[in-house]
Amino acid sequence: MIDKNSRTILSVQDLRASINGTEILKGIDLTVKSGEIHAIMGLNGSGKSTFAKVLAGHSAYQITGGSVQFEGNNLLELPPEERARAGLFLAFQYPIEIPGVANTQFLRLAYNTVQTKRGKEELDPLEFDDFVREKMKLLEMNPDFLDRSVNEGFSGGEKKRNEILQMALLEPTLSILDETDSGLDIDALKTVANGVNQIANKNNATILVTHYQRLLDYIVPDFVHVMQAGRIVMTGGKELALELETRGYDWVNANKPVNGVIA
Ligand code: ADP
Ligand code: MG
Repeated sequence: MIDKNSRTILSVQDLRASINGTEILKGIDLTVKSGEIHAIMGLNGSGKSTFAKVLAGHSAYQITGGSVQFEGNNLLELPPEERARAGLFLAFQYPIEIPGVANTQFLRLAYNTVQTKRGKEELDPLEFDDFVREKMKLLEMNPDFLDRSVNEGFSGGEKKRNEILQMALLEPTLSILDETDSGLDIDALKTVANGVNQIANKNNATILVTHYQRLLDYIVPDFVHVMQAGRIVMTGGKELALELETRGYDWVNANKPVNGVIA
């Protein structure tokens, strides 16, 4: 999928972030171009979710150094909702429930907000209903989901599908999926992967955060990064995920190259 006409969507340089005075991200460097799928792997506690949440603008974290450019603009100075409007999407590891708000209302509001920002027409409830049902077919989601409260009583797999549905509707420039594979059975995993693959194109980019290689059997990344103690310590191609699976993370420590890139 990598092509010569790609543009840089995300450029992260020496990003440092803390929570409650503890530094979690200790200098992250990452460049993501259009058409690319990146996987970020690493053990629990290595800082993967922190990185995703810092990019999305989560207020609990303090940025203590470095820079993040998103489509050429300083991402860190934008409030979270502006980041979303600018085309950044984060599917959470633990999607929130919003009792009393029907999924269809929530999705339409999110969709129309982004449409307005893009200078496009908003959809009324009937138009939106047709549109969302088409997208739901793609994800093999039951239309009953539209009338239920956002994520309330959804199973883990249903929440993840709902996240991918939001992504399909919003057509983000950069999607970050945090452990979207966790808790999914193999059929749900394939459906979610299929959705992600259908959404990925040469104009957008995807970052998959996962600690299992399993998802990467279905969504093939262009780059795999290993995070450890708040840094990306190794970068390779899709084969690096398999290497990690067979050799384990101890192998990373033994083979960590000085500049983070393996030949
Ligand atoms: P991962 O997603 O890779 O499992 P996280 O980003 O969730 O890792 O966590 C990275 C580190 O940050 C962990 O060591 C965790 O204990 C720490 N951490 C996360 N949230 C907080 C918090 N609210 N206060 C202090 N430390 C935290
Ligand atoms: Mg996590």
